Amino acid sequence: MCSKNRQESLVIYWFRQDLRLSDHPGLTKAVDLALANNRKLLPIYILDDENAQTYRLGGASRWWLHYSLGSLATSLKGNLNYFSGNAEKILCSLVKTFDISAVYWTIAYEPWRLQRDLAIKAALIKQKVEIKVFNGSLLWEPSRILSQSNQPYKVFTPFYRKGCLASGVEPRKPIAIPANFEKTLTSIKSLIQQSNSDLPQSHPNTRNINPNSTQSNRIVTTDGRLDRTLDRTIGYVESLENLRLLPTGSTKNWGKIFASVEKHTSLSNTTLTKKQSSLLTPLLAEEQIANVDKNSDRRLAEEQIANVDKNSDRRLAEEQIANVDKNSDRRLAEEQIAKIGETGAKKVLTQFLKIGLSDYKAGRNYPIRANVSRLSPHLHFGEISPNHVWYTAKSSISKKKSGQKNQFDENLDHFCSELGWREFSYHLLYHFPTLPYESLQVKFKNFPWLNDKTQLKRWQRGQTGYPIVDAGMRELWQTGYMHNRLRMIVGSFLVKNLLIDWRYGRDWFWECLFDADLANNSAGWQWIAGCGADTAPSYRIFNPILQGTKFDPDGAYIKKYVPELTNLPIKYLFTPWEAPLTVLTEAGIELDKTYPRPIIDIKSSRNRALQVFSSLKK
Ligand SMILES: Cc1cc2nc3c(=O)[nH]c(=O)nc-3n(C[C@H](O)[C@H](O)[C@H](O)COP(=O)(O)OP(=O)(O)OC[C@H]3O[C@@H](n4cnc5c(N)ncnc54)[C@H](O)[C@@H]3O)c2cc1C
Repeated sequence: MCSKNRQESLVIYWFRQDLRLSDHPGLTKAVDLALANNRKLLPIYILDDENAQTYRLGGASRWWLHYSLGSLATSLKGNLNYFSGNAEKILCSLVKTFDISAVYWTIAYEPWRLQRDLAIKAALIKQKVEIKVFNGSLLWEPSRILSQSNQPYKVFTPFYRKGCLASGVEPRKPIAIPANFEKTLTSIKSLIQQSNSDLPQSHPNTRNINPNSTQSNRIVTTDGRLDRTLDRTIGYVESLENLRLLPTGSTKNWGKIFASVEKHTSLSNTTLTKKQSSLLTPLLAEEQIANVDKNSDRRLAEEQIANVDKNSDRRLAEEQIANVDKNSDRRLAEEQIAKIGETGAKKVLTQFLKIGLSDYKAGRNYPIRANVSRLSPHLHFGEISPNHVWYTAKSSISKKKSGQKNQFDENLDHFCSELGWREFSYHLLYHFPTLPYESLQVKFKNFPWLNDKTQLKRWQRGQTGYPIVDAGMRELWQTGYMHNRLRMIVGSFLVKNLLIDWRYGRDWFWECLFDADLANNSAGWQWIAGCGADTAPSYRIFNPILQGTKFDPDGAYIKKYVPELTNLPIKYLFTPWEAPLTVLTEAGIELDKTYPRPIIDIKSSRNRALQVFSSLKK
């Protein structure tokens, strides 16, 4: 190792959940190091399903990640290098193969990553590689926020108002894209090309190739050239497509994911009754069509319909095909893809500040309104930093209010506090690493969950008979996003009314959300189940009928995702089973055929939940 030529050695920047160039402390330092020492920077991404195990990304997140990496690769002028496998083995092999002097990365706070990264750090330091780790994804460092008694906070308001805002530590101000970063970039491909053109003259001291690398690790072939089988030896993946993040098979839309999801959530043995599957098939057909993405063509969509099983109404399916172009789902999918990545994230923020923020506090409760930012997947994948969002939002308001005496803005304050909730989730995850899988309150240990698999399936597919719940679940499936108000409504319905373990909800969200985030998802589910860090009242049970009436008063959101109810008068839209037969017939609805009756009675299930929850010992 000591014989390495340090002038020519490489600096690795390891991208993880920080897929951007601007406001990036870790990347900036790596570029500085490379420029100051005339070294090359090798940007890498490792898909480490091996260490992630049960926390491997869900289908929707993988889809998003594919496009996000593509966008980052473009910003890096094609120099992003992909790897797949155990990150420790890959990094150690890279260090053995190439002359690497430093590896920098940004902290990712999932417990499995923290543990893995500690081991990686120790292994690389042993190899005399300089390691530097940065915070680039949170406004405040979770380890530093403690109460007066030096304990982690368990309740949001004191955490945010006292622990964060009154700590005297302002969030770091955003920084620009590192200057001249392009000059430093290199890639595995160019290193191979370079070594091939240098050889055999300079062999074995090929530039950037570790002279100590041996035949046995098959990096350098017998004629001294770099082995083309780098994929097998160091987990190198030559192209983004070969990371296989998109759904495989003949289709690239969501419909086909059901099979793998069911395995993932241990439900593969659940059988549906004939009646249930006949209810579900039109929905499946509709979903398959609605999600046809840019890469899948119309013929594929038609093939899928041809395969929809014989219980489905073929005529309906054909009508849906005819409507694909009309409904412009394809265009919508393309628009979605165009938003992924750093540039898209900044546009989404700008748009929100222009039209959403001014009525955020009240408007954020109404799922049909454009008052929420939809920044969550961008923040999760680090396409934009929370610091950038925080300061840009503040400056947009102070520009509007310049000259006014009172600069306080309740919408801005509320929006910032939601970013604070994100910080709080990470605070909980950091201090209570069992958050993703164990109820934080011990009294929930032997909770008598009912876990009815048929009801779970009806919930997952938006067939509960409660229109607002079904609209939320279908929004999730069709768009990879669900509005926060709906996450609370459907979560409460699952955990309280159906008495299904919150971990089933967690898994379904994990699979279907673009923004699936270990901290936010775990904290959100524990909060809604009332088993989390704060001692939430067990009577926090959302009534789906009242919630629908209040937050979707004209039914626009329900009609968007449950179109079979479009013609139902508003009086019955939240309770279709109460509509007289004549009204139903006129609206084209046949209960249990075109739309299901409720799978559970809301009042008695609420009382049952209250009883069970209040019987838990303190
Ligand atoms: C059961 C349940 C599961 C959830 N799972 C996730 C998840 O996997 N990933 C995820 O990012 N959020 C999750 N949330 C939190 C919240 O619903 C989403 O962050 C929010 O709906 C994202 O939409 P937005 O970007 O338009 O939010 P905005 O209202 O525009 O808020 C701005 C940002 O603040 C953060 N934020 C807002 N609300 C919360 C919250 N309650 N908790 C933590 N952070 C918040 C998000 O990063 C969000 O992008 C969950 C909530 C519940 C109740």
